[in-house]
Amino acid sequence: MPELRRDSITNTWVIIATERSKRPSDFAPPKEANGEAKDRPDNCPFCPGHEQQTPPEVLAYREQGERDTPGWLVRVIPNKFPALSTEEDVESHTPAPSLYTAQTGAGVHEVIVESPEHHDSWADYGLDQATLALQAWAERYRDLRNDNRLAYAQIFVNHGSAAGASRAHPHSQLIATPMIPAKVMEELDGAAGYYREHKSCLYCTLAAAEIREESRLVSLSDDFLAFCPYASRFPMEIWILPRQHQADFAEITLSQIQELAGILRKVLRSLAFTAGDPPYNAVLHTLPYQGEGYEQSYHWHLEILPRLTTMAGFEWGTGMFINPTPPEEASRYLRKNPELNPNQQE
Ligand SMILES: [Zn+2]
Ligand SMILES: [Zn+2]
Ligand SMILES: [Zn+2]
Repeated sequence: MPELRRDSITNTWVIIATERSKRPSDFAPPKEANGEAKDRPDNCPFCPGHEQQTPPEVLAYREQGERDTPGWLVRVIPNKFPALSTEEDVESHTPAPSLYTAQTGAGVHEVIVESPEHHDSWADYGLDQATLALQAWAERYRDLRNDNRLAYAQIFVNHGSAAGASRAHPHSQLIATPMIPAKVMEELDGAAGYYREHKSCLYCTLAAAEIREESRLVSLSDDFLAFCPYASRFPMEIWILPRQHQADFAEITLSQIQELAGILRKVLRSLAFTAGDPPYNAVLHTLPYQGEGYEQSYHWHLEILPRLTTMAGFEWGTGMFINPTPPEEASRYLRKNPELNPNQQE
């Protein structure tokens, strides 16, 4: 059974994923031939016609067909090798000596297969496909809130094998944890500190400032803005925020989902166009399920983190990043995509 272990020095948690158990020799890089075979549609468990190779679906948007058969446009399935599992109860145990704290790995790990097309990606999705994918995010996110063992749900995209995608077929994932992860807690606390001092949401203030300032703006729509953050950790890092205050992603409306789909695919197309389809991670940060008290100060957002540089010794040692591309320059490159706000072209 998976186990969550707490580092008593930094108060961060690690998932010891026994379901995905690996021996040291399993970490050898895959031989080129194997890698390619694994990426072919006929070997892909996420391709239509291969539904029996995955656990039964928990959600599907389909044009036709029965459960667990082809005809779907988006399909959500439990991960076959979950990092955390719903079968567990949350049970803390502190083995002696007491500096070690652990709890059972209760949680959820789901895969959102975003398209039936094996070679699709966010840069290729039509608006309808992108909208359905985000609708599935919202629907699963809302549904899991009813499980009171869960404190937080992380939705994320790994694009490209260098960003951790183990399969080429386009998909995102949701991992829900029984505690609020340290990274999210850091943002909650930072924003709450600002709120206490200024009586306003830091993210709302930042959004307004970026729209005024313009130099880091990538795209602007009625409800959303995309910009390269002032202290970007990675070259071409992009954040997308709702312009009006919204702490919880669960509150997103259908028309906002459509608008977000539009801006996200445009921005990711820009990134592919500018930087040659780089690997990236996209992470959704939102008010935790157990986030009472942070509704005024926190504000959900999507962070797109291109993997153009590598985390090396300095970054691992310090948590500080070295970014060779100033965000003001990154946004200028990204805006060269003519689909993005013609009025902002230079
Ligand atoms: Zn496939
Ligand atoms: Zn706000
Ligand atoms: Zn964040």
